[in-house]
Amino acid sequence: MSALHATEGGVLSRLAVLVEAPQHSGLIGPLDYLADQPWPAGTLVRVPLGRRVVTGVVWGPGAEGEGCLPREQLKPITEALPDLPPLPAHWLQLVRFAAQYYQRALGEMAMMVLPPELRQIDAVQWGRRFKRLNKVLNPPPPKPPSKRRAAQAAAEAVPAADADHASEPAPVSAPASASGPLPGSADTAALAATPEQAQALAALLDDTVQPPPTSLLWGSTGSGKTEVYLQHAQAVLATGRQVLMMVPEINLTPQLEARVAERFAGRRIVSLHSGLTPAQRLQHWVMAHLGEADIVLGTRLAVFTPLPRLGLIVVDEEHDPSYKQQDGARYSARDLAVYRGHLEKVPVVLGSATPSLESWFNAQPVGQGGTGRYRLLPMPSRVGQGRMPKVRLIDMGTLPKPAPGEEAPALARPLLEAVAERIERGEQSLILLNRRGYAPVLHCTDCGWKSGCPHCSAWRVFHKADRTLRCHHCGFAERVPRACPDCGNQDIAPVGRGTERLEEQLAEALPGARVGRIDADVTRHKGALEEKLASVHAGEVDVLVGTQMVAKGHDFRRITLVAAANPDAALFASDFRAAERQFALLLQAAGRAGRDAAVAGHSEMWVQTWHPTHPLYDALRRYDFEAFAQAQLKERQAAGLPPYSHLAMLRAEAKTQGAAQTFLDQAAAAMEAAAAQLNDQGGGLLLYPAVPTAVQRVANVERAQMLIEAQQRPALLKLLQQATPAWLALAQQNRPNGLIRWAVDVDPLAI
Ligand SMILES: [Zn+2]
Ligand SMILES: [Zn+2]
Repeated sequence: MSALHATEGGVLSRLAVLVEAPQHSGLIGPLDYLADQPWPAGTLVRVPLGRRVVTGVVWGPGAEGEGCLPREQLKPITEALPDLPPLPAHWLQLVRFAAQYYQRALGEMAMMVLPPELRQIDAVQWGRRFKRLNKVLNPPPPKPPSKRRAAQAAAEAVPAADADHASEPAPVSAPASASGPLPGSADTAALAATPEQAQALAALLDDTVQPPPTSLLWGSTGSGKTEVYLQHAQAVLATGRQVLMMVPEINLTPQLEARVAERFAGRRIVSLHSGLTPAQRLQHWVMAHLGEADIVLGTRLAVFTPLPRLGLIVVDEEHDPSYKQQDGARYSARDLAVYRGHLEKVPVVLGSATPSLESWFNAQPVGQGGTGRYRLLPMPSRVGQGRMPKVRLIDMGTLPKPAPGEEAPALARPLLEAVAERIERGEQSLILLNRRGYAPVLHCTDCGWKSGCPHCSAWRVFHKADRTLRCHHCGFAERVPRACPDCGNQDIAPVGRGTERLEEQLAEALPGARVGRIDADVTRHKGALEEKLASVHAGEVDVLVGTQMVAKGHDFRRITLVAAANPDAALFASDFRAAERQFALLLQAAGRAGRDAAVAGHSEMWVQTWHPTHPLYDALRRYDFEAFAQAQLKERQAAGLPPYSHLAMLRAEAKTQGAAQTFLDQAAAAMEAAAAQLNDQGGGLLLYPAVPTAVQRVANVERAQMLIEAQQRPALLKLLQQATPAWLALAQQNRPNGLIRWAVDVDPLAI
């Protein structure tokens, strides 16, 4: 209150501050506060909000005049976090863009992308953390170096909580005494580039192209994309700038972390991902923001890291769906990275063996049906003598039918024999099956009962290891019943096959073989994945069964056979991106074989299919991504799908399907006039009717969705922006009718 009185003199300035407020609260923009200092935009402050004091970001001067709260009703800013430079203007612009593009409240977006701990601590707590960080960054003047001191410094640099992060690089690399960038001479020498790598690098390092373009580094698996990233990074680091390297899932790529740390031993490397403790995440983020970290290695959330000296953004495996956030603000980190590159005028490198069709489209010249926005840098060859494995399609329709009442074996005879041959030669095989659990459903042969989930419109999966029926949608789990719950029949049988069962059946079919499995079930505990991978690398596994988890990035040297056990489902999925994802997965899986020159010659990729003539497999057989992409793009163009149109999905969850659809119908009605107006200007907007989602009920909540399609992206964004206030009001009205949640997803990955 006393602070308020001080305002009467009129000396306090009025500042707009972003605070955390979800979209549904109806608060879209910043709130006004009074400040005794003209804090610059980007300053992190603590402000009262309701009964709490929360962290906020100064957005700019507050608005005076009509429609604004009078000064007397404004509360003063409690304090600013000291010694923390304001977030840069570029950061504010990135957040503004992301909020507008993905239709979220500004404050929600801004707070969501800050380290969680920073959102909670006050100035005193921050002061303590900053002091600790300073000690790490600026250790007392060095005494004559001794081994003991170096060890001590390393111990100080790694917080105690890091002890179990042995596989990660230390947050602060050892000789970090200077606050500026360290001389590049500390970097380990680069590997000799192949002609293809050299050509890509020459293009990337050519700084006469201004503004720096976004490049699509299209390199087959094993072509040495990482080496190109590293050499590009080295050149950028040498000019005193920072590098942001993004990977889809950091826990699956400890190899990249190790390589970066090894190459840039004298640099400060920090990681940013959700696997860090809150304290580590804050420390790493602050080091990036202060310009103390040279390289930031992170997952999608890292795209928002403030970097005062940013010089390069790398997005590895740019096609990976993990770059898209799947709840809350559903942003695409890949797309935001491209935007950020434009904004800060730094080069962006998107890397993939199977680029997303959007990126591929953008990398094709205008004359060839693309947009010419990106520069295509192809690297088709594998490094060294490694070759892609020969693809063999097994036509399941030509195999002998199993006897009545019997199940077809997991692997067709010729494939099983090929695996057995590998075992004899001491080589490894990888069997890919993208379905975990023992069997997707249990079935009573007498009365027809099936293991449905009582809370979802889905089957519960049978997990044999702990004898449970588990719903993969809501998590509901129960002990497997001894007999059919409906008729008492003791003979309930698994239908279909998951990784757990495949592992069991392969162990039976290949007596003496060491069969291992990697999927989400066996890698739930921290360190379990690393342990499993290590045993594969050590040659303790002959046959590895796994989900898509194993297909990504791992450098298995002894695998000479990769098989897709049951990949057909994606061919006929309702989602238009299913084929694209499946092709990427199969090609990536194939890339696990033949990485070692000594065994590359007889490496094989087997595919069990009922549709051997399908164009997807035909393109896979020839490793012809280009043909696959062109065929897919043609289909997309004919159907008016992305990248030839732009989509947004409005989703609703309610107690009944009727309530969910009613809300969507009303939401559609509320934007019809605006849509018609935009269409008069060539917006090409189309509103589809509301329909139940693929899995309609999850955890007793009914879900429905409505697709909005547009020829012009600006029209789509304008429509969503105009409709949002009406939707907020509609949602309020519909609550008593059972509406629970609603959200809009711009550029949805799955429809
Ligand atoms: Zn029964
Ligand atoms: Zn369920």
